[in-house]
Amino acid sequence: MDIILLGPPGAGKGTQAQRIEANHAMVQLSTGDMLRAAVKSGSDLGKQVQAVMDAGELVSDDLVSALINDRLDQLGPDAGAIFDGYPRTEAQARSLDDLLAQRGRQLDHVIELQVDEDALVDRITGRFTCARCGEGYHDRYKLPQVENTCDECGGHEFKRRPDDNEQTVRTRMAEYRAKTAPILPIYDQRGIVSRIDGMGSMDAVQAEIERILRD
Ligand code: AMP
Repeated sequence: MDIILLGPPGAGKGTQAQRIEANHAMVQLSTGDMLRAAVKSGSDLGKQVQAVMDAGELVSDDLVSALINDRLDQLGPDAGAIFDGYPRTEAQARSLDDLLAQRGRQLDHVIELQVDEDALVDRITGRFTCARCGEGYHDRYKLPQVENTCDECGGHEFKRRPDDNEQTVRTRMAEYRAKTAPILPIYDQRGIVSRIDGMGSMDAVQAEIERILRD
């Protein structure tokens, strides 16, 4: 099964993708994670995309589709893909169709997480993660139980995404509205879109997604 999780930044796509991955024979393919890894490694690709990402704008369609092409090559035919943060434009949606068709695959579900943008700014600007194990925290909603110590692994170093500041978040949301939301009709025509309330608890959203995957 191949699925897309769609929704503005901070809607919970990454968290839910990890939960699906833990429960199914499926692999999260996050172009944001791939690009952040490239920036961290200091590769030419990383240097090329860093400023665009810091500004909250979209990197080129060809570049992200090439990343997805590589990852699909590594994916066995029995493993499903959870596309997280891709496709983000109509051109990417068309490329994805081609990349899947070349491998005899097709999309089974597009799940849109619907959210309130103002609440999202609050959600995103407070979030941080453990630098060692990746556990997620929030300044107002989920602080570590012991100050400055990760609940999961005991680590003392935490990190924040450089693009999780209000101005960049607003740009990322504007990009979503202008370029990503308009791809939904492509999938609506195929009858594969499910819309769920992304403002519920992580467990409630997960339960909804599981229900859709069982259908
Ligand atoms: P994300 O982690 O999905 O929020 O992505 C972080 C940033 O990476 C975005 O704000 C973009 O600059 C870039 N990015 C990630 N995925 C894509 C994509 N599919 N197309 C264009 N840019 C992307």
